[in-house]
Amino acid sequence: MPEWSVVIIGGGPAGLTAGLYSARAGLKTLLLEKMAAGGQATITSEVENYPGFPEGVSGPELGQLMEEQAKNFGAEIRYESVEKLIINGDTKIVKTTESEYETYTVILAMGAEPKKLGVPGEKEFTGLGVSYCATCDGPFYKGKHIMVVGGGDTAIEEALFLTRFASKVTVVHRRDELRATQILQKRAFENEKIEFIWDSVVEEIKGKNTIEEVIVRNKKTKEKSKVLVNGVFIAIGQKPLTDIVKGQVEMDENGYIITNERMETNLPGVFAVGDLRQKPLRQVVTAVADGAIASVSAYNYIEQIREKKSGRA
Ligand code: NAP
Repeated sequence: MPEWSVVIIGGGPAGLTAGLYSARAGLKTLLLEKMAAGGQATITSEVENYPGFPEGVSGPELGQLMEEQAKNFGAEIRYESVEKLIINGDTKIVKTTESEYETYTVILAMGAEPKKLGVPGEKEFTGLGVSYCATCDGPFYKGKHIMVVGGGDTAIEEALFLTRFASKVTVVHRRDELRATQILQKRAFENEKIEFIWDSVVEEIKGKNTIEEVIVRNKKTKEKSKVLVNGVFIAIGQKPLTDIVKGQVEMDENGYIITNERMETNLPGVFAVGDLRQKPLRQVVTAVADGAIASVSAYNYIEQIREKKSGRA
């Protein structure tokens, strides 16, 4: 019999909620996190769209509270990096750099990360003017000039969303036509607050305490220009952190794990939650819902195994 009932891989809001619900349901629950709990929420200075915090809550604080709550109900959290998932019938083995854990169920909650530009200033100003989430941080830029980098659906949707707050939104795209769908393009072209800098890439993000200017280089003319902005939203694609289960768990062409509404993957007893899952809205509020659903599904799966083993099914 496996030592664990549920092993959760990843300690963001989805994983921590799965931990809370699983432990609270009396399942022996282990959560493995490679860095620090809290997930992508911790890169947001203020979370204003998570219900229950009318004044907003800092991302790190929210992560810490979720971690505490999961632990209070008995979830065990270990800081180890997972390397491999081995399926052995009803038993799954989660191999980390340090150990191996046998379990009935696995909840994949490794999350996703925004692709980075990799330019000077990007890392230094993350959370201080550089953002990867317009829905999270847009309201902080009322009346300001914002730059959006990218030309896909996310970038254009974010640019449109940001016009609700900003006085001006400048989209910097590396080609002379957008990748985004026609309808979004049309809306963006018709929006008076949005302007475009074509064929251009960001070279450097500069400022003192916050962003003051961005150096942009035209790829065709090689000319460099200085754009004075208060914020830079980078939307050049997301990268789901699903490498450890590549080839095992069914994914879409972008590497997002495909589940049904019970968070079940193609592998019985393996569930996926949060940002690494193919879904329409990736936010803390949907991540925690995924975590709760997956725990109930894991509970039901374990019950079925127990019934099978006791010969009742
Ligand atoms: P995406 O479609 O991969 O677009 C990324 C954009 O960033 C592209 O315009 C790309 O330029 C640019 N880019 C990539 N790397 C870059 C770099 N290093 N420097 C500068 N620019 C760079 O990503 P996405 O917009 O996040 O969308 C991901 C998927 O979700 C897509 O399938 C999209 O349709 C879907 N989505 C759909 C909706 C919707 O239906 N409402 C909303 C959001 C996302 P190039 O064009 O030159 O490659």
